[in-house]
Amino acid sequence: MSSSQPQSPAPAALSALQAEFTSIVGAENVLSDEAGRRPYAHDRLPFANFCERQDKLAGVLPRLVLRPGTADEVQAIVKTARRLGVQLIPFGNGSGVLGGAIPVSAEVTVDLRRLDQIVSVDPGNAMVTVQAGMNGAAFEAELNAQGYSTGHLPQSIEISTVGGWAACRGGGQASSRYGKIEDMIVGLKAVLPDGTAINIRPVARRATGPSIRDILVGSEGTLGIITEITMRLWKLPEVERGVVLAFPTEAAALDAARDVMQAELRPLVARIYDAQESRERTENMPEFQSRPILAVYVFAGREPMVTTEQQMAMEIFGSYGAVEAGQEPYEHWRKNRYVAFSAQWQKAGYFNDTIEITGNWSALPAMFEAMGKAVREICPEVHFGAHWSHIYPEGACQYMTIRLPPMDHEKALPLHAQMWQAIENLTLEHGGSIAHHHGVGVFRNGWIERELGGALPMLQQIKDALDPGNLMNPGKLGLRLPEGAVVVGQLNPATPRQES
Ligand SMILES: Cc1cc2nc3c(=O)[nH]c(=O)nc-3n(C[C@H](O)[C@H](O)[C@H](O)COP(=O)(O)OP(=O)(O)OC[C@H]3O[C@@H](n4cnc5c(N)ncnc54)[C@H](O)[C@@H]3O)c2cc1C
Repeated sequence: MSSSQPQSPAPAALSALQAEFTSIVGAENVLSDEAGRRPYAHDRLPFANFCERQDKLAGVLPRLVLRPGTADEVQAIVKTARRLGVQLIPFGNGSGVLGGAIPVSAEVTVDLRRLDQIVSVDPGNAMVTVQAGMNGAAFEAELNAQGYSTGHLPQSIEISTVGGWAACRGGGQASSRYGKIEDMIVGLKAVLPDGTAINIRPVARRATGPSIRDILVGSEGTLGIITEITMRLWKLPEVERGVVLAFPTEAAALDAARDVMQAELRPLVARIYDAQESRERTENMPEFQSRPILAVYVFAGREPMVTTEQQMAMEIFGSYGAVEAGQEPYEHWRKNRYVAFSAQWQKAGYFNDTIEITGNWSALPAMFEAMGKAVREICPEVHFGAHWSHIYPEGACQYMTIRLPPMDHEKALPLHAQMWQAIENLTLEHGGSIAHHHGVGVFRNGWIERELGGALPMLQQIKDALDPGNLMNPGKLGLRLPEGAVVVGQLNPATPRQES
């Protein structure tokens, strides 16, 4: 660390810390024993899971876990942490897949799940205000019961919090119609690293300088703790209609998706599967014999609008040689849309991971081909499949699954690392973005400098100005690691599991 970089004060002794935080949240909301802290040593980063299978940690145990019940308690925690030089990690539900919530130094984890209430539903202004720790599925269910939805429906809705959605700049399955989380958040409250509480009042728009809201959205806990969010509210669609299509080629399906978005149509859901994933979903379906590529679209809204939108889209699909097929793949997707399948693979000893990137339409076919070639060269036995969802006029998210068969960890981890290297490097070489909606956490730290095109120092300066002690989720988002911190990553050996 150079002398010009901000320094942290020496962290206080554990017992003194515990007493300070107990006075804020109460003894029952300070977890200090190993069993209590253990679930907070990881999120859903697959690399962390691989390490745990060998009884190792990818990072370290948090020193303590705090469970505040109000925004005032969050503020008091942050102020105390700042005074004592203690690093904090905001924790939603630990469903992040890039290691954003993994302790790497001597952090205290702040579990926000007791902030779990809807504050107000305001149908007149089409807004809902919710505490940041509310579970996504519980939030959506309460809104649905009143005839509304936010339209943010990530696959992880049952295992994530609203604050986590905002912090990771997430995207849901209905994003082509309703947008991503940054399009939905109209206001928020947060506690900055110096303990200041800010309130970005919910209004349709403002022209008052750079958007402070957008500095917090996607900050992955490095610039403050989000305590409350106001989101757009939509009436539940009158009709939802799924369409299953068989396309002759991946290129035809991608071109059709591009034309749909550029024709200003806004399907609720659009999913195009590569040859591998199409095969898995269409076995014994006659339509796919000569047209092997599967696409599932959902059109939703008011009846006349849905009918028109669907008709216009079908004309586009037809012009690329697609035919409509049986509903089974749509029904299967609907039934399983919130199910996580990765756990079963990990449990069976496989090395399963997913990587989502963004590519422009003109780059996608060549980029995808290059990626498939690269990962198969690294390990011919790899399962490599992809689908394109989250479609835009400019391009799409390419969501890939890489799965190595059971083998020695010593052999698998370097292969896994090489595959990440190949995919992220090829993304950058083809002009794409290294992350579409999972965020950066720690696992993408190695690529963030190239991703940001010269702006990483600017991000670091914002961090240093707001958090001179580097106390708020340090070392994430490609920002400076504290001295002596564990470098979590595929190219680094995992640390043996030990008490901190
Ligand atoms: C099976 C599966 C499917 C997934 N599908 C999707 C998907 O469809 N779309 C999608 O976008 N993501 C998806 N994800 C990724 C993950 O669920 C999201 O990133 C989610 O938004 C994380 O929420 P969380 O509450 O679990 O946050 P955590 O994992 O607890 O935290 C994630 C990061 O946000 C920070 N953070 C959490 N809460 C706050 C807060 N209140 N204030 C400040 N910082 C905070 C943490 O410090 C950490 O850096 C999926 C993950 C899994 C395992």
